[in-house]
Amino acid sequence: MAPSIHPLIDNGIKKGSASFSGGKLHCLCKTNPVEVTLASNVAHNHACGCSKCWKPEGALFSVVAVISRDALSVTANADKLYVVDASAAIQRNACKECGTHLFGRIEKEHPFKGLDFVHVELSDEEGWQEPQFAAFVSSIIEQGFDPKGIDAVRQKFKSVGLETYDALSPPLMDAIATWTAQKAGKLPA
Ligand SMILES: [Zn+2]
Ligand SMILES: [Zn+2]
Repeated sequence: MAPSIHPLIDNGIKKGSASFSGGKLHCLCKTNPVEVTLASNVAHNHACGCSKCWKPEGALFSVVAVISRDALSVTANADKLYVVDASAAIQRNACKECGTHLFGRIEKEHPFKGLDFVHVELSDEEGWQEPQFAAFVSSIIEQGFDPKGIDAVRQKFKSVGLETYDALSPPLMDAIATWTAQKAGKLPA
């Protein structure tokens, strides 16, 4: 039996729309949900196996994307948000009541500063960029996943057309390395 990766991936991937221009995310509270409005589509959407990204009940992976922080605003029930771990590079803002992460924001010097991290499954709208790859796949083992099953997980990703990595994708790793080299004066900024 194929492992359950995430609801947006298990039954194949639905392509997003190139002309989609954003929408709203909601936490899972039945009453007074936190609402976040995104003024554009997302980028670099991907499955993530790390232990920090929020994932729905029963899913092995999170699905997480980035958006310019200028394009994100909290438009209802902002008082329910709290920062899960203020010491983490990505400050994940979650709902106090249902635990859902609405957005992750970077405040310190970081190659991805200026980008917020969001989960488009929290939206009722369709057209969001579909997952592009799987990151930090081996990390699910650190969280207790039986390593004997990891080949089946990688095969499941391949079967829906996603490449798997144990870090981020090469373009994102290259962006981090370029930023690091610029900081060190080894490349022009
Ligand atoms: Zn909530
Ligand atoms: Zn993650």
